[in-house]
Amino acid sequence: MDKATNEKVHCLIIGSGPAGYTAAIYAARANLKPVLYQGIQPGGQLTITTDVENYPGYPDGVQGPDMMVHFEKQAARMGTDIRYGLATDVDFSAPPYKVRIDEEKWIEADAVILCTGASAKWLGIESEQRLNGHGVSACAVCDGFFFKNKEVAIVGAGDTAAEEALYLSKICSAVHMLVRRDEMRASMIMQQRVFSAKNIKVNWNTEIDEILGENKVEGIRIINNKTKTKTTIPVSAFFVAIGHEPNSAIFKGWLDMDESGYILTVPGTSKTNVKGVFAAGDLQDKIYRQAVTAAGSGCMAALDAERYLSELAHHQTLASDLKEG
Ligand code: NDP
Repeated sequence: MDKATNEKVHCLIIGSGPAGYTAAIYAARANLKPVLYQGIQPGGQLTITTDVENYPGYPDGVQGPDMMVHFEKQAARMGTDIRYGLATDVDFSAPPYKVRIDEEKWIEADAVILCTGASAKWLGIESEQRLNGHGVSACAVCDGFFFKNKEVAIVGAGDTAAEEALYLSKICSAVHMLVRRDEMRASMIMQQRVFSAKNIKVNWNTEIDEILGENKVEGIRIINNKTKTKTTIPVSAFFVAIGHEPNSAIFKGWLDMDESGYILTVPGTSKTNVKGVFAAGDLQDKIYRQAVTAAGSGCMAALDAERYLSELAHHQTLASDLKEG
């Protein structure tokens, strides 16, 4: 593969969620002249959410997409070169590191900050794939509106599933929630809201057996995993809200990661096993996964990158002094 590069940058940031933009704000203010590639979903996961009530500084809450516009504007105002494009390959064998954009050009960078986040997980059954976009969706906020006053179903029992079920309950006539255990993982406050919504029916110990319909979702067949009883419910849509997986596939073989693909960083830092490559946000955090923690880790990554680049510059000056002297 031809890895001829036609651009060299000082600090390259991949990803445009709270981690990426915060890293950009700090890197730009430190005069690292950051170039940021936004990836496939500019603004990241918050662009497909509604009310954000827990990000400090917004006493009345804020809409996720609006908040990400604020992040982007601030990063741009500080001088970040923000570009649309997806990182499709990397070569971290030696500095300067190479990152390929849109399967085309390779860019070289002295330091790289990875903030590629995480994406929704799917169940992996055939009917889910076949009916995806025809009533099967992983984003209630994006697609719920299409099923106004209809009955829908959602699988999952975490905060995302609870939040999406509540969102759907305001649009749809009934929401059938499938919970595979006899308890939910979601926070107490979210569970209470789900239980008090009159049109959300929680089906405990229940899993999906099949999504029904040829060309669009017409129903679901569910199975109670305790009694093995199967039941069919007519629904017009099926939402999947069973968590996320890190977008780390292109870093496999270069960076140390755990069994789920989360990048491992030196505790208390954003440093990966490759010197000069840093990771922040959901890509390396499977515990907290909040906008505010992602932003905090983006800040850490920019500060770590700045320190690394200063040391690099210092070594390069010493090396050239030695050569000349
Ligand atoms: P989680 O990993 O917390 O939850 C995933 C849920 O999906 C679990 O209940 C899990 O079940 C269920 N699940 C996984 N696989 C399957 C499957 N194959 N079939 C059926 N069910 C399945 O992911 P979330 O996206 O909900 O949340 C991620 C993080 O983001 C959490 O820390 C959460 O608190 C946070 N968050 C916070 C919000 C807020 O504060 N407003 C909003 C949304 C998310 P089981 O429990 O049995 O493992």
